[in-house]
Amino acid sequence: MKWMERTLEDIFKALGTDQEKGLRNEQAAELLRQKGFNEFEEEKKEGIGAKLMHQLSEVTTIILIIAAVISAYLAISEGHGYAEPLVIIAIVALNAVLGIRQELSAEKALDALKNMNTPTAKVIREGVLQPLHSKELVPGDIIVVEAGDLIPADARLIESANLLVEESALTGESVPSEKNARAEVKESAPLGDRFNMLFSGCLVTNGRGRAVVVATGMETEMGKIAALLNNTKKSKTPLQQRLIELGKKLSVVAVAAGAIIFGIGMYHGETIMDMLMTAVSLAVAAVPETLPVIVTVTLAFGIQNMVRKNAIIRRIPAVEALGSASVICSDKTGTLTQNQMTIKQIWAVSHKPKADTDAFLDTETELLKLFSLASNASIEKNQGEETIIGDPTETAIIRLLQAKGMNKSQLEAKYPRVHELPFDSSRKLMTTVHRTEEGYISITKGAFDRIPLDPHAACTHEHQAEANHIHDQFAEQALRVLALGYKRYDELPEQLDAAELEQGLRFAGLVGMIDPPRPESKAAVQAAKAAGIKTVMITGDHMATASAIAREIGILEEEDLAISGAELERMSDEELKQKVRDISVYGRVSPEDKIRIVQAWQANGEVVAMTGDGVNDAPALKAADVGTAMGITGTDVAKSASDMVLTDDNFATIVDAVAEGRRVYENIRKTLYFLLSCNFSEILIMIIAVALGWGLPVIAIQLLLINVVADGIPGFCLSREKMEPDAMRQKPIPKQAGIFSNGLGKKIALQAGLYTILTLAGFYVGKFVTVSDHIAASHEVGQTMAFVILGWSSVVHIFNVRSNTQSIFSIGFMSNLPLFWCAMLSIFIIFGVAVIPGMMSIFQLVSLSAVHWLIVTLLSIVPLVVVELMKLRMRANGKGA
Ligand code: ATP
Repeated sequence: MKWMERTLEDIFKALGTDQEKGLRNEQAAELLRQKGFNEFEEEKKEGIGAKLMHQLSEVTTIILIIAAVISAYLAISEGHGYAEPLVIIAIVALNAVLGIRQELSAEKALDALKNMNTPTAKVIREGVLQPLHSKELVPGDIIVVEAGDLIPADARLIESANLLVEESALTGESVPSEKNARAEVKESAPLGDRFNMLFSGCLVTNGRGRAVVVATGMETEMGKIAALLNNTKKSKTPLQQRLIELGKKLSVVAVAAGAIIFGIGMYHGETIMDMLMTAVSLAVAAVPETLPVIVTVTLAFGIQNMVRKNAIIRRIPAVEALGSASVICSDKTGTLTQNQMTIKQIWAVSHKPKADTDAFLDTETELLKLFSLASNASIEKNQGEETIIGDPTETAIIRLLQAKGMNKSQLEAKYPRVHELPFDSSRKLMTTVHRTEEGYISITKGAFDRIPLDPHAACTHEHQAEANHIHDQFAEQALRVLALGYKRYDELPEQLDAAELEQGLRFAGLVGMIDPPRPESKAAVQAAKAAGIKTVMITGDHMATASAIAREIGILEEEDLAISGAELERMSDEELKQKVRDISVYGRVSPEDKIRIVQAWQANGEVVAMTGDGVNDAPALKAADVGTAMGITGTDVAKSASDMVLTDDNFATIVDAVAEGRRVYENIRKTLYFLLSCNFSEILIMIIAVALGWGLPVIAIQLLLINVVADGIPGFCLSREKMEPDAMRQKPIPKQAGIFSNGLGKKIALQAGLYTILTLAGFYVGKFVTVSDHIAASHEVGQTMAFVILGWSSVVHIFNVRSNTQSIFSIGFMSNLPLFWCAMLSIFIIFGVAVIPGMMSIFQLVSLSAVHWLIVTLLSIVPLVVVELMKLRMRANGKGA
C-alpha cells in the first residue's frame, strides 16, 4: 500500500518514528548512513573531451586548421619549412587549452553558487523543533512547513491549516493545490490529486502543516523525474549576445579584409598559395577569438566577487542589469533595518503606556499572554543552546514573556490551540483559537488599522481616540506597532474562517517594538544617491513608522513624498507613472502592490532592483530587472523567483553588488578597447602596406603569435582590474547604451590608427632605411621590426586601458600583479622569438642591430605617452579622478 492510503499510525510504525517527538538523533544518523543525503544526483557535466570538441568546432579554430592545412601543403609542395603548420597547430592547441581552462574556472565559480543555495527545513527531532539542512532529512522525520517554504522531501501530512501548495514543478499545474491532512486519497490518484501528501521541490504558498517524511533524495517523486534542479541558469547575458553579434560582424570585416589583401597581392604578382595563406591568417588574426572567453571569465570573476560581498547571483544576466540599476526598491524590515525587534512599549486599554522595563500590572501581563498565545515563534533550549524559531516580530513577544518570568509552553498547555489563521502580508493579521476553562477564545494580532473592532463594544468608542493617539505616538518614534483584539465563544463556531473570527473584536491593547536601522544603511543610501540611484522604501509597516525610519537613513528627504497602500490603490497606472519619481516611501502596502511600483519605474525607462522575501513578492521579483531575495528571512518561493539572493539580507549589499556590476561592465569595455585596437590595426597595416606595394609587413604565424601572446594572455587579467575610483560617482549605465558608447569607439579607432602608423613606420625604416652599419635594410628586417612593435605596443597598451582617466603612474604598474607578470611574460616571449636563433627561423625573423632595437622600443612606448597625455587633458577638464 502506498503512503497516501495508509493510516498515520501505520506510517509512524513503519518508519519507527513518534508523531510528537520525531526521530531520535542516533536513529536519524543511522538512517542517513543507509539512505544517503536527501539530494538529487547531479546532471552530468560536459566532459573535457566534449569541451575540446566544442572549442575545435569554433569557426575561428576551423579557419586556423584550414590555414595549417594550406601551410602544410606549401611545406610539402614548395619546400617551405614545416615550422609554420606546426606553429599554427600549436597555437590552435594553446588557444583551446586557454579556453578550456578558463571555462572550467568559470564553471567552478558557478558550481560554488549552487551549493550556496542549499535550503533548510524545520524538523522535530527528540521532541525539539529545529532548523536542519534539508539534505540531512531522512524518512521518519517530522517536518513543519509554512507559507513560503520549499517542501524538502516527500511527506504525508499529519495536520494542516489552510495549506496551499504550488506543485507546478511536478504537475505543471500552476494553481496551488489545497492540501488536507484528513483527505482520503486512493492509490490510483494522480500526483496532483494526492491531497494528503507533500512533494519535494514544491512550494507552500499559504498556511501551515506538519508532516512525516516518507521519501528522500532520488526516491521522491521529483527525484524520479530528475527534473532540472540546477537553479543557476547559464543563459547568455544581453551583453554577451551583443558581443557574439559583434564577433560575427568582425568576422565579416576580417574576411572582407582578407579578400582585399588577396586581390591586391595577386595584382602585385604574389603567388596564389602565399596570398591565400596570408588572407586566411589575417582573417583569423583580425577576429578577437579570446573575447567571448574573456567576457565569460570577467562575468564569472564578478560573480565570485559578489559572493564574497554576500550577494549570490542566480541568473547571470543580472550582473549586467545591476550595472545599469537606477532604482532600488527595498523592504524596510530586515533589509534597511536589523530585524531585531524588541518591545519597548506596551499599552493595555484603559491604562497608561508602559515601558518594557517597568513593572507590569495584571492587565499588561494578560495582554502579553494573549500576544504570546497568538504567536508561532518559540525559543527552545536544546543541550543548553537557545534555538529561536519564528519571525522576529513574534520572537520579541516571546522574549518579553520570558523576561517577565513566564513560559510559552506552559501557557499553551493551559490554553491549547485548536485552530489558526496564519499571518499573511495582505491581511496583516493572524488569528489563533484556544480552548479555555469557560469555552473558547479567538485572538487576533496584527496591524492596528486592520484589526476589525466590534462597533458596539463599549471600550471601542471610549478608547478609539486614545488608541489612535498612542498608536501614532509609538509609530512616530519609529516603533512597529502590533495591536490585539479577541473574541470569546462558549462553543467552537462552525465556520473557523476570517469572516467569522476576524470580525467585531474586542480591542485589548498595543505593543510598540523598535527595529533599529542597520548601521550601514545610511551610508549605503548615500552611496547609491551619489551613483545616481534612487532608493525607495516599500514596507508593510505603518506609514508613520516607515517615514520615521526613512527620514533617519536619508531615504525620505524634504521634497519627497510618502504614500500609503490605500493612496496607491486610488492612483491609476498612468498617474503612478507620472508621480513615481517623487515617491520615496510606500507604507502599508501589500506585496501585490509592489509589481505596480516596479512597472511604473520601468515605464519611465529605469532599471529596477526590487527586494522581497515573502510568497506574494514573487511576481514583483520576477518583474523587476534585478529581483533580489533575502537569504536569511526570505522564503524559498521568493528565492526561486529572484535573480540575486542576499546572504546577509542587507541593503548595503545591493549597493555593493551594483558597484561590482559596474566594474564588470567597465572591464568588458576595457577588454574590447584592448583587443579591438590591436585587431583593427592589424587589418589596416596589412591593407595599407600591400596597397602601397611594400609587401607584407607581418606574416601569418607572426600575427597569430601576437594575437595569442600579446593579446590573449594579458587580456584575461583585465577581468581582475579594480573598480575605477569614480565608478560610483557616475550615473548608471543607460539600459540602451551601446557597448561602444561614451567615446569607446573613437578611442579604439585612434589607437588602431596609432599602432598602424607606428608599425608601418618601423617596417619602413627596417625595409628602406639603413640605420646600422652591420645590418642592411631589407624586407625581413622591416618585418622583424613591425612584428616586435605590433607585439610590444599591444602589451604596453594594456597599461593604458587599465583606467579610463587615471595615469598608470598613479595606479601603479604592479597594482594588478597577474596582469603585470603576464605583460612582462608577453614582452619577453616576443623578444625571445626575435633573438633566439631557432625561434627566429620558425617565425621567419632576422637579427636586429642595437639601433633597430632602440627605434623599436621608442616606437612601442609611443601609445603609452599619447594616452597618458590624453588622460592628463581629461583630468584637467575635470573628467574623472
Ligand atoms: P517590510 O515589507 O518592510 O519587510 P514587513 O514585511 O515586516 O515589512 P509585513 O510583514 O507586511 O511587513 O507586516 C506589516 C504589519 O503586519 C506590521 O506592521 C505588523 O503590524 C503586522 N505584523 C507583522 N508580523 C506579524 C505577525 N507575525 N503577526 C501579526 N501581525 C504581524
